[in-house]
Order: sequence, then structure tokens, then C-alpha cells
Amino acid sequence: MANKKLLIIGAGMAGLSAGCYAQTNGFDSEIFELHAIPGGLCTSWQRRGYTFDGSIRYLNGASPSSLTHELWRELGLLQDAPIYYYDRFIRFEGRDGRAFTLYTDLDRLQEHMLELSPQDEDVIHEFIEAAKQFRKMEMPLDLTPATPLEAMELGQTMLPILWPALRWRSVPVREFAARFKDPLLREGLPEFFQFSPPDFPMMLLFSVLAMMHDREAGYPIGGSQRLADTLAERYRELGGAIHYRSRVTRILVENDRAVGVEFEDGSERRADVIISAADGHSTLFNLLQGRTLSAAQRTYYRDLPVSKSILQVSLGVAQDFSAETPAVNLPLPEPIYLGNVRHERLVLKHYCFDPTMAPPGHSALSVWCEADYNYWRSMRAHPKHYRAAKDLVAQQVITALEERYPGLAEKVEVVDVATPITYERYTGNWRGAFAGWALGTRKMSMMMTGGMSKTLPDLDNFLMIGQWVEPGGNVELAVASGRDGIKDLCDQEDRDFCTQFPRAGAGA
Ligand SMILES: Cc1cc2nc3c(=O)[nH]c(=O)nc-3n(C[C@H](O)[C@H](O)[C@H](O)COP(=O)(O)OP(=O)(O)OC[C@H]3O[C@@H](n4cnc5c(N)ncnc54)[C@H](O)[C@@H]3O)c2cc1C
Repeated sequence: MANKKLLIIGAGMAGLSAGCYAQTNGFDSEIFELHAIPGGLCTSWQRRGYTFDGSIRYLNGASPSSLTHELWRELGLLQDAPIYYYDRFIRFEGRDGRAFTLYTDLDRLQEHMLELSPQDEDVIHEFIEAAKQFRKMEMPLDLTPATPLEAMELGQTMLPILWPALRWRSVPVREFAARFKDPLLREGLPEFFQFSPPDFPMMLLFSVLAMMHDREAGYPIGGSQRLADTLAERYRELGGAIHYRSRVTRILVENDRAVGVEFEDGSERRADVIISAADGHSTLFNLLQGRTLSAAQRTYYRDLPVSKSILQVSLGVAQDFSAETPAVNLPLPEPIYLGNVRHERLVLKHYCFDPTMAPPGHSALSVWCEADYNYWRSMRAHPKHYRAAKDLVAQQVITALEERYPGLAEKVEVVDVATPITYERYTGNWRGAFAGWALGTRKMSMMMTGGMSKTLPDLDNFLMIGQWVEPGGNVELAVASGRDGIKDLCDQEDRDFCTQFPRAGAGA
């Protein structure tokens, strides 16, 4: 019998992962990608000797000792990538001259917080003890258990952190931080994870702190595009084909079954199963032209907040920032408007811990900040205005950084600005959203109780994967989601799911 033909929309990390597992499990797959390169949001780009990264600051499961690492091992992904583990993740500078540094060693962090605010001793102890409880947390490889046995295994993985998870999943970081008497701790704690929504739950903060403490989360040297290229290469080795510059405009449906896709030029491709690893909104409302959603799906798209639209201003500078904390949250002497959004602070990141990002003695710097999609969309309608608006924000960021790092402005060699329109154009993500859904307390509870629907009620042979159905907005979950999708297909066909890949480099 001929292998079933799968057609995957999108060569982001979820689509590439699904492709690899599809090939290994005896499906015949092809990926169609609108951009000219793989990776989607997991990307970096080169400009005159500098590499600017658009995604990974830390990757879960980097350490071989964590359960999640199995995912990378199966795919042969982190084999040759040295991992950089942060000692200090970010420093939050107060207006009173003091600074609150997020040390990744929890004991060091506790010492530092006590130095800053002995009067908060009780809350600090509670904070550190709770973070340590999450050291027992392991992310399951199978996101959705298909059998009672798998459900039991999942339960066992979660058991050690069941009570801490129930306790902290619905407590927003802001609410907890308000308990500190010290204004620096109160203000700094909610700012450590940039772009987190107002109800960002303590559980997520704790789980990241615990992973960093145990050196389970780190940065893969070479950055995001290297990881995406390696996965794309793996897929090709397994016999898969990626078609770039191939934007899918419609999913073809006949008799309530997905049967193929249509492209911009009107041509079609048929397959047995269609997997969308593309943006959730465009999949449901454009490619499927508003087919009936489940009640739950209607609720998500009506009520759930989406992650923010952002601007990324990147600078290549002839100055060595390696002694600086990898990220610094700086107060500005006066607020500035970048586009039409007011900013009282900027977060500066450098990549000096990765020698592939800039020539020796030079630094690749990035400032990511919240942006208004509608503003940038209206600018884009007039190319001259759009270019001028990008130049202006770059100049404003350089001027603001010059205040803090005198002499920096004249060392700037390369400037690059990405707007929400850039994200939308190159990845198709809804309003340039940088990580799917915003992860608040409600979303957290939903994730812990069954997850989101990946199929439509009256549509066979169709599946969604990626960050819009497996929220968390990270590369590891996107890759796990691709794996999960193929596992579901194997379950439907009543065959074993194979995770034994030929060794990387050994061919299909
Ligand atoms: C600024 C920033 C910081 C981040 N930091 C981290 C981090 O520190 N750690 C971490 O793990 N993750 C981080 N992430 C998140 C991570 O990059 C994403 O969650 C993940 O890459 C999403 O993968 P995906 O495959 O689900 O979706 P996407 O990357 O969006 O992939 C979708 C793919 O589908 C393609 N596509 C869309 N529509 C079509 C169509 N109609 N036809 C053909 N192709 C189509 C797109 O071009 C894209 O390639 C960050 C992201 C950003 C932007």
C-alpha cells in the first residue's frame, strides 16, 4: 500500500518537526513555506558582519539530563551546538541607582535579594523555596496522552509539582511582587520577562527560574537560524521536500474532508492529510474561509489576548559589551515615543557570549519593545513614511542608549529595524504577534486542563500544530507539537509511533 501523503503548511519549527517525524513514521510529506528560508519566528539575519537574532534567548531542555532533551536527541538537534548557560539573566536598574539582578543560581539570587531588602526576608524565602519546588518539574514529551497508560505516565511526570502548580498557576507575578516592601523588588520582579501579560502567572516564572538554576535552559551557540537550518537539513536527509516562496492561499475541502491546498498562482496540490503549522488565525479564517469552529475555538479567537506586537531595533557596534549583564532593563531620563507607543524604559540585550554574532571586540545589540500594529500598518501604506518611521525609532534608541553608554552612538556600524509588519510579512503571524497567545493565568489553567483543539468539528484529514494550538510561545513546544501531531496520526491508523531516527548525517 502506498504511503499516506501529508502536506504541511509552514516550515517553522513545528512544521519542520512534523515533517521529520512524518518521514520517520512512513508518511510521504512535503512542506510549503511562504518565505525563502526555514524557521519562521525562530530566525536570525546577517548584516555586514553582524548576526541579529529574532528569537531564542533560552531554550528548554538544553541539558542532556532533562526529560525534554529527549526531543532534541531524537531529532539529532543539539549534538554539535555548545550551550551557553547564563549566570545573570537580566539586570533591572532602578531610578534610585540600585539594581536588581536576576541571578540564575537561586541561592545567589536569594542572597542578592536579601542584601537589597532585609526587611522582605519572609517573602524572599517564600519566593526562593517555591522556585526550588519547580526543580522537580519535567515537561512531558507527549503533550496529549492518547491512551490511559500515557495519561498515567503524564500524571506521574506532573505529580511531584502538582500542589505547587495548583497553588501558583493562578497567582499573577504582579500580585506576588506587590507583597515586597522594597520598591525595587516590587517594580523589578514583574519586568524580568519582557512582554509578559499583566496576569503572567508565578508558575511560569518559577519553572523558568528552576530550569535556569539546574542548567536545563540555555542558549544554543549559533542562534536561532542555525537551529532552524539544522532541523530543515535533517528533514531533507530524511527524504522530505521543502518548497520555499510557496504561499498557501486556501485549503481545499470536499465532502467535509481536507483534500489539498491552493497557491497564490491558482495551482493546487492534493494530499491525504493537510497539516497547518501556520498562524492559527489565518488558517481558520482565511485558508479555511471561516469553516465552522468548535465553541472552544470561537471563544479563543474572541476572548484570549494575543502576544504583543513588537519592534526590534538591532545595532552592530564597535564596542565590547561582554562584561555587561546579557540583558539590562534601563530607566529612561524622559519617556520616549517609539512610533506611537510611550516607553519609560528600554531593555538592551547583547550576544557577546556567542562569538558567531559579531567580530571580536564588537557587539550585536538588540532592543525589543512593544509596538502598535495598526500604527505600523498605516505607515507601511506609504513606503517613504515607513522608512522614515523606522529610521526615527532607530535614532531615538541610539540617542537613549548614548545617555547610558556615552560614546556608543559613534561606534554604531550597522542599524536594522524590524516592525510588526516585518514579522507579519515573513512569518504570516497575526498582527505580527511574536509568540502566539499571551500566557496569562487563564491560559495557564487551560493548558493544564486539556489544551486547545487541533482539529475542526466537521472537517476530516486536517490538523493544526504549532504555537497557536500549543501555547507557550517557545521553540521546544512548537517542536513537541509537530511530534504530537504525527503521533496522533499514527494512533488514528493504529500503528506504533516511531522515534528512532537514522543518525544525523546518515541520510534517509
Ligand atoms: C522576539 C522573540 C523572542 C522569542 N524568544 C524565545 C525564546 O527565548 N525561547 C524560545 O524557545 N522561543 C522564543 N520565541 C518563540 C519562538 O520563536 C516561537 O514560539 C516558535 O518559533 C514558533 O514556531 P511555530 O512553528 O509554531 O510558528 P512560526 O514560527 O510562526 O511558523 C509558521 C511558519 O508558517 C509559515 N506560513 C505562515 N502562513 C503560511 C502560508 N499561508 N503558506 C505557507 N507558509 C506559511 C511562516 O512563514 C512560518 O515559517 C521568541 C519569539 C520572538 C519573536
